[in-house]
Amino acid sequence: MKNIIQLNEVDVYFKEYKVLSDLTFNIEEGDYIGIIGPNGSGKTTLVRSILGLGGEVRGEIVVGDRRNIAYLPQLTGSKSKFFPAKVREIVATGLLKNKSFPKFMTRRDHEKVDEVLKELQMYDKRDSLIGELSGGQKQRVLLARAIVSEPKILILDEPTSALDPKLRDKLYKLISELNRNKGLTVLFISHDVGTIEKYVDKVMYLDKKLVFYGTPLEFERSEEIKKYTGSLKH
Ligand code: ADP
Repeated sequence: MKNIIQLNEVDVYFKEYKVLSDLTFNIEEGDYIGIIGPNGSGKTTLVRSILGLGGEVRGEIVVGDRRNIAYLPQLTGSKSKFFPAKVREIVATGLLKNKSFPKFMTRRDHEKVDEVLKELQMYDKRDSLIGELSGGQKQRVLLARAIVSEPKILILDEPTSALDPKLRDKLYKLISELNRNKGLTVLFISHDVGTIEKYVDKVMYLDKKLVFYGTPLEFERSEEIKKYTGSLKH
């Protein structure tokens, strides 16, 4: 498989504070990766560095065209900045961001919005106001907005606040389907180790450095991880 993201001996600093040390790894096209680790371990900093939004990066990050990456910062329940927009209008803004002036929607763009809403089972809600939707539905609208431009890579940052477990499971499943059906490469920061493991191809465990990167099965069997998380897991 082709590498889609490569990090070579990457350190990330905020002023003199080194948040991430010596990261070297490749992400292959089509991978679904769960990024886990304690609070403050640098998960968000890592994905923001990949997006070019992080702290000061030393070393090499190869990602190609960053316009191919869609980023969903923490999927919180409300997005009041969109109020009182309609679902289809919000999804359409996902297409406008990559357009140069003049920004207008073509007929094909409207079709794309409809297609993605159908795919995420939100088509019947296309004329609803975002404020009228449930938390899970809002989440799907923001996901639709992120993927309508057909990115190659999707990065999600799960909120730390505990979500409804059923909703969380549904989101993981939905992302799995997008990964499989569209070959979308996914990086998913998760706070729920037990659940995300069931869906991803690879687990990345960060604690200011790369502690583990491998399959969920290898993760379960890893002596290194047992040493690391022993007191937390058992
Ligand atoms: P995680 O996502 O694993 O919880 P973060 O990447 O958010 O961890 O944070 C890692 C560390 O970097 C924390 O100690 C945090 O305080 C620090 N940090 C994050 N963003 C900034 C910033 N913009 N300026 C200074 N320090 C930051």
